[in-house]
Amino acid sequence: MHVRVLLLGGTAEARALAATLTERRVELISSLAGRVTNPAMPVGQTRIGGFGGASGLETFLVDESISAIVDATHPFAESITSNACLAASRSGLPLLVLRRPGWIEQPGDQWTRVPDITTAARVVAATAPATIFLTTGRRDLGAFSDDDDHHYLVRTVDPPTGAVPPKMTLLLDRGPYVVDAERALMTNHKVRTLVTKDSGGPLTEAKLSAARELGVPVVMVDRPALPADVRTVATVPAALDWVIQLSAG
Ligand code: NAP
Repeated sequence: MHVRVLLLGGTAEARALAATLTERRVELISSLAGRVTNPAMPVGQTRIGGFGGASGLETFLVDESISAIVDATHPFAESITSNACLAASRSGLPLLVLRRPGWIEQPGDQWTRVPDITTAARVVAATAPATIFLTTGRRDLGAFSDDDDHHYLVRTVDPPTGAVPPKMTLLLDRGPYVVDAERALMTNHKVRTLVTKDSGGPLTEAKLSAARELGVPVVMVDRPALPADVRTVATVPAALDWVIQLSAG
């Protein structure tokens, strides 16, 4: 079967899959939301910007003669995954979600798992005034904007545009990060709590090792659940196998 893949991206896994599929001469279009300035670009044909909801995505699938969708977006990109599921089922197209595994608590870790960012903010608000290292992304800063007891060390890729914590030191940076630099950063800023989403993967994991070594507690925001019955794999090779099998079918 001739396969033309829409690869929903914005992650390192999506870029790796785009490179491998291109090597195998599988036709594909990568898609990015256009959220960050200077995004890391995948190899091959790429389009940027929203589709206009599930129905806009459906139209795109028809216009571009797409025959399969791989959703390799970030584990917290909930809307696009839900739209992809809806559009795939309405169009009768096969859909695979590539989701890297979440992080696992290790001996020495002091994690508090919370279901969402609002609960993370409540947990932090209940702690003694100190410096909080916030790595949950610029769009989640509003949840901490009423807290003037804590000082926030905020790390984002692009500058925040909405509400921010009143006491904030902003670091603009993007991964990958290494443990030595994360330990130094957290020591220099006297960080007492780390708040992170359970993004998983090696690129931003160093902060967790540094927190463990320094005895810094972590507030870990759990991932949103995937839609029911969606076919999911955890690795790029497994996603590649799925596409290759479709091509052979
Ligand atoms: P989201 O909340 O699920 O998506 C919001 C809207 O952005 C979607 O409804 C869609 O607009 C558009 N969109 C999202 N991903 C898209 C894609 N790959 N191609 C085209 N349109 C897309 O997503 P998000 O959390 O804003 O994340 C946006 C992108 O950044 C994702 O591609 C994700 O992989 C990447 N990313 C997100 C995070 C994070 O923490 N959330 C971290 C790293 C990277 P329409 O409804 O108009 O189609």
